Amino acid sequence: MNALDSDGITIGVDIGGTKTHAVALGAGGEVLGEVRRRSGHGEELVVLAAVQAVETLAGELPGRAIARVGIGIPGTVDHLTGEVQQALNLGLDHVALGAQVSRRLGVPVHVENDVNAAALGSLGSPGEAEGRGAEPPSLAYLNLGTGLAVGTVLDGRLWRGVTGAAGEIGHIPLDPDGPLCVCGQRGCIEAMASGSGIARQWGADVPSAPEIADLAASGDERAASVLERLVWAVAGAVRLIVLAQDVRRVVIGGGLALALGERLRLPVLAQLREWEAASPFLASVAPADRVVLAPADRPLAAIGAALAARPV
Ligand SMILES: [Zn+2]
Repeated sequence: MNALDSDGITIGVDIGGTKTHAVALGAGGEVLGEVRRRSGHGEELVVLAAVQAVETLAGELPGRAIARVGIGIPGTVDHLTGEVQQALNLGLDHVALGAQVSRRLGVPVHVENDVNAAALGSLGSPGEAEGRGAEPPSLAYLNLGTGLAVGTVLDGRLWRGVTGAAGEIGHIPLDPDGPLCVCGQRGCIEAMASGSGIARQWGADVPSAPEIADLAASGDERAASVLERLVWAVAGAVRLIVLAQDVRRVVIGGGLALALGERLRLPVLAQLREWEAASPFLASVAPADRVVLAPADRPLAAIGAALAARPV
């Protein structure tokens, strides 16, 4: 038994809109076990789902004490107090999530925004050891889900911003002639490169992202135009992130990215390389070389929530 084992294990819980995913993390960052269950809606059921996921996972690892729990959740979070100020999809409004789960489990609980958690979780992904010498890792995790946001690790530490709003780049307009966004602006990144943005452009009966890619490949003009905007906006987001923060990696993840995989990565790289070919400046910064897809088989937000809960 090594030092961290004797100290107990850390469990990371990713509370999503539909699924709550708990992961037990060993000392070396290895996944010791995982449990998935349906998420609840509203304060009581969200807390219950998280507690039960941890208890089920603990039951599968007999003899291992839980030292602490980290939670990642889509919403505005005060990581110092563990309060979820708002998580609309889960029906939470000013909920002391960390305190409630902690009381039920009897261990310290840390709460983090899920995209920030996924950024931390990406540190152990392939390619992340490629820093120069002893350079601490700096990366961005670009989440393409229902919305779009970025989580940033700078010099090995999560950058949350002074009010926790760092990385809300979804509402930066890129195209003045682009689709209208929920926020009232036109051509926001999120209006083109997110599940909700695609749904708004498409209207009723929106197909899945892979179906849109299939339709585009078979010559459907509406699908081709939606896909083209998606690729253009993701490439634009990568360029923005790299120029603003000069991170070594931009990890593209989230449900939309996972659903499309290489069908997103390859055209995004092609777009970035086209821009690089036209600009010696952009070519010198080489944004295309920094893009990787999030691994489909690693629960980054749950792993990162566990990492965030560990004492520094
Ligand atoms: Zn917007």
